[in-house]
Amino acid sequence: ERRRRAAAASSGPGRTADGHPVRLMVNLGAPHELAAAAKADSEGVGLFRTEFLYLDRASAPGAEEQREAYRQVFEAFAGRRVVVRTLDAGADKPLPFATAADEPNPALGVRGLRTAVRHPGLLDTQLAAVAEAARSTGADVWVMAPMVSVPAEARAFAERARAHGLPTVGAMVEVPAAALRAGQLAEVCDFLSIGTNDLAQYAFAADRMLGSLAELLDPWQPALLELVRQTAEAGAAHGRPVGVCGEAAADPLLAQVLTGLGVTSLSAAPGCLPAVRAALATRTLEECRTLAGLALAAPDAVAARTAVAEAAGGTV
Ligand code: PEP
Ligand code: MG
Repeated sequence: ERRRRAAAASSGPGRTADGHPVRLMVNLGAPHELAAAAKADSEGVGLFRTEFLYLDRASAPGAEEQREAYRQVFEAFAGRRVVVRTLDAGADKPLPFATAADEPNPALGVRGLRTAVRHPGLLDTQLAAVAEAARSTGADVWVMAPMVSVPAEARAFAERARAHGLPTVGAMVEVPAAALRAGQLAEVCDFLSIGTNDLAQYAFAADRMLGSLAELLDPWQPALLELVRQTAEAGAAHGRPVGVCGEAAADPLLAQVLTGLGVTSLSAAPGCLPAVRAALATRTLEECRTLAGLALAAPDAVAARTAVAEAAGGTV
């Protein structure tokens, strides 16, 4: 009970009961979210979705407009880290100037980083704007690419970002192939960030927009957790941080499991962080590993959650 009360009152950097650090960061997706995101007790932005700049318009935003938008975010997070996710166009976020209208399966089409191959200018303009905004502010700016499938894509992205003067470059792990080759991704970039929303969609061949498939898309699915485990282990073997920035990071009980799987940061909506921080503070790293083992061994998502909740003693 004492441990629980201390956890409820906890603030500052995320850590387990025995002091193992887990960075707690916020997801940011639109300018109107900035004030609340910056005010939240966090170590920065773990996922800055930049699509808002591009959606609902006929042509891409210019360099100056982008620079100004990024500058506002970086200034609000001066002294903290901001992980910028480059444009994730296509699939559920089609753009008239970047997305082909005739793809039979847009979720399997030219989306995310794949767009940059067809439209290299889009990515270069964005990287230049991010780099320039970063130079004039005090934030620790990292960049990462969405929808990386093979190491060569991550290498090419890292080269381009570094050429623009952005030193810390990552790959999102949202495709099962990327999780299975996470070690090779970790060799060519500085960090990995797992997008559990898309990783679940592609691992289970289940459209993330379909509510009727929610069971398959449940982040407690042991097969999804296994992909997280492999990614975290590969990152650790290469000394690279591995974050989770999909919806899974917002669940306090699952946060303990993810920590036990080796994830080093969690990024979620600002309002979710206090409960995640409190949950982590009640558990040692070894206890998190035990919970992770229970989840991995379960036959399905409901059984995984039930087993972990029972072992956790109903404290979250
Ligand atoms: C994800 O896929 O989990 C993710 C964080 O990216 P988005 O939800 O923006 O696709
Ligand atoms: Mg995604």
